Amino acid sequence: MAPAPSRFRTIGPEPSDRYARVPFAAPSIGPDEIAEVVATLESGWLSTGPRVAEFELAFAEYVGARHAVAVNSCTAALHLSLIATGIGSGDEVITTPLTFCATANVVLHAGATPVFADIDPVSHNIDPAAVQAAITPRTRVLMPVHYAGLPADMTAFQRIAELRGLRIIEDAAHCVEGVANRLKVGSIADFTCFSFYATKNLTTGEGGMVTTNDTAAAALIRAASLHGMSRDAWARYTPNGNAHYDVVMPGFKYNMMDIQAAIGLHQLARLRRMHARRVAICAHYDAGLATLPLRLPAQAREGSVHARHLYPVLLDSAAAGMSRDELNDRLRDRGISTSIHFRPVHLHQYYQERFGFRRGMFPVAEAVYDATLSLPLSAAMDDASVDRVINACHDILR
Ligand SMILES: *Cc1c(COP(=O)(O)O)cnc(C)c1O
Repeated sequence: MAPAPSRFRTIGPEPSDRYARVPFAAPSIGPDEIAEVVATLESGWLSTGPRVAEFELAFAEYVGARHAVAVNSCTAALHLSLIATGIGSGDEVITTPLTFCATANVVLHAGATPVFADIDPVSHNIDPAAVQAAITPRTRVLMPVHYAGLPADMTAFQRIAELRGLRIIEDAAHCVEGVANRLKVGSIADFTCFSFYATKNLTTGEGGMVTTNDTAAAALIRAASLHGMSRDAWARYTPNGNAHYDVVMPGFKYNMMDIQAAIGLHQLARLRRMHARRVAICAHYDAGLATLPLRLPAQAREGSVHARHLYPVLLDSAAAGMSRDELNDRLRDRGISTSIHFRPVHLHQYYQERFGFRRGMFPVAEAVYDATLSLPLSAAMDDASVDRVINACHDILR
């Protein structure tokens, strides 16, 4: 059979499957997700309704939390969790600079001030000692991020929070399968926020979830996710529903649709299998890349489970004789898609101009940024693609 036409330029001899790109994070969507979306469309109920309610119950049970509120993104989940803590102007929230901008942007949405604390050089999660040093009388909330899926040291953060009277909101966008020191991520902190964006381990296309054991906070988040209305549409339009509602606060439009929950329900049912596939791919990478001038991701500690959302490697540029950007370009030339996680938030223009952040303020996060490259990883990735990435790294770095 003739090969498919090339959609990228190849340089030099390539393996026989050179015509297919290795995508960075292809979603794994099965026939059950597709059938449930079709059934949702045929049901006549597209927005927040019975499938969202079912997804919330299943997700709360999965993480072992009393409440789960589905929203349209992790960003919304983080914003509503901050609102539920009651913070506002003058209050400070401590988080990591090595994260997606959403983690810090939502602090500004809530009217408070983001304060960064540098990361641990091994785990790349926020360093408890740096958190201690960043606390001021105005600190209200700690917002750890489980970077790449490796659970942060929640035991240390809980001790600090208890001592200093702080609340904890976990950004668990990378960590839906995570366990931190024998406790399931989603059941530990005051609030845990998950992302179901297209590249995440469990996807609904776009989507998010807040879990909490605080019944009053869950009710507030639920109301705030839909205009601050006391009753959602499903409770108003169904046969036994009541058409009346009251607006109890100026809320947001953050609710999840049933079309999204239809996907999420089946993603959740397949999560264990998808995670096992990610774990196997990471083990394959660990073995295949061990001899190269790359620092491979840290393993989870005893009693913890790594969600394996990303596989970021750190290039030893001196030993390799090339920059991270050159490695990135050469992998791209071979059809291998990569990503960089993350340009630290304090190095972005808005944060520099508004808060006066400069390079040198968070040197560990900056050093990781300079050297890091995330290799393709997804539950939908086959062994041949993993081998192609490993072989390309050997060819380029040899
Ligand atoms: C993806 C991501 C988010 C935002 O998730 P959305 O669902 O896209 O809003 C927040 N934090 C981190 C660390 C992320 O990777």
